[in-house]
Amino acid sequence: MPKDEDAAQFVSSNVVATPYHELGHGLIDVLQLPVLGREEAAADSLSALLTHEVWDEDSATQIVYDTAYAYSAYAQEADQGGWELAYADTHSLDLQRYYNLVCQFYGADPEVRQDVADELELPAERAEGCADEFALMSESWGGILSGLTPTAQTKGLVLVGADTATDPIAAILAEEITVLNEKPGAAAGNHGFGGGTRRGECPLRAR
Ligand SMILES: [Zn+2]
Repeated sequence: MPKDEDAAQFVSSNVVATPYHELGHGLIDVLQLPVLGREEAAADSLSALLTHEVWDEDSATQIVYDTAYAYSAYAQEADQGGWELAYADTHSLDLQRYYNLVCQFYGADPEVRQDVADELELPAERAEGCADEFALMSESWGGILSGLTPTAQTKGLVLVGADTATDPIAAILAEEITVLNEKPGAAAGNHGFGGGTRRGECPLRAR
């Protein structure tokens, strides 16, 4: 891990948020979910939702700042390098992913997160609709997530082929899977996901 604390936090946040996105692809594939729109955007939405649901306010905000920064850094790198924008890519453009993330995170709790929206320069005209944007994707993913609690008949999420004793990233993934398997069971939210105790202390940094 980088010795610099900010760099370590940046890596830590992205190690948490990226598997949330990949989990979205996995669920779409395994559960054969209908996707009305771009799959990459649906996976990004799940990452924003889980960041909001799983972590306490400070940690969630830190994860969003770090992952949003990654998108803006990619965009800046492309701009400085004179690279063509990836219009044909399956992902939205980096800055679109940046604003979608900021909008959804802000929209999850606009009263508390106005400073986040201001600091990350979410335009007012986009901000207006962010609560609705969050509600729509939260209800869409929430119903799926609430059905994932392990039962006598189902395993929930299982990590395979990773050595958690020697691989720090595998250890983080194992911790995430444990939390995600428990989280829907603790659900008290209106969409069947959420509620329960949101945790703090982003991993890696705490290790
Ligand atoms: Zn993806």
